[in-house]
Amino acid sequence: MEHATTPNRVALELASVARDAAGCTACGLAVTRTQTVPGEGSPRAQILFVGEAPGAREDLAGRPFVGASGHLLDGLLASIGLRREEVFVLNTVKCRPPENRNPQKSEISACAPFLTRQIQALQPRVIATLGTHALAVFAPNARIAEVHGRPYAQTEGSQHAGAVLFPLYHPAAALHNGSMRSTLERDMTALRAYLDAGTREAAGEATLREVDSVPTRLRSKRQGEAE
Ligand code: URA
Repeated sequence: MEHATTPNRVALELASVARDAAGCTACGLAVTRTQTVPGEGSPRAQILFVGEAPGAREDLAGRPFVGASGHLLDGLLASIGLRREEVFVLNTVKCRPPENRNPQKSEISACAPFLTRQIQALQPRVIATLGTHALAVFAPNARIAEVHGRPYAQTEGSQHAGAVLFPLYHPAAALHNGSMRSTLERDMTALRAYLDAGTREAAGEATLREVDSVPTRLRSKRQGEAE
């Protein structure tokens, strides 16, 4: 579909995706789900956070990231001055894989048209992927250990609507791992800096290219100095 230009039209398209997903039987997850979890957030969102798959709590609530990982995600968002209501949070698949197993490639492919429609409707500036499975959808050859915490590349083609990919580790990986948590916190700060640089660029003060070219470690140090 064409880009839904106004927030109302975006909201209508997002609602239409949610309805279509609720009736979807394209893969086996349709049989085991309690309900679909299409995602939620602002139709004006400039940042999309893409998780892996709904878990048990999400399956019951029909909302993404409502469990422990979601609590951590909310805290991470707050740490960079964002609220869930102003971003958009969704998953690579809209139904819970049984026993919380990883979503299979065929399930991710079957669900991809919904994700594509959501991205095309929202036209976000940044797509922040959470974890390896979400990253693989956008950048199949990227290794998260090498690419996390900085813009990966300008994603091309209509599928990703020109958004910049910003890979992050999954909050679940940081729940019981202090060093992973520090990494995720640092990466969120890098995301904030990237967003701020884009805002300054719009005001003619800096360019995203400048920020892209600064190695991650240097950027972290600079941010540390500024804090
Ligand atoms: N983990 C995810 O990847 N998505 C959710 O919605 C919840 C937990």
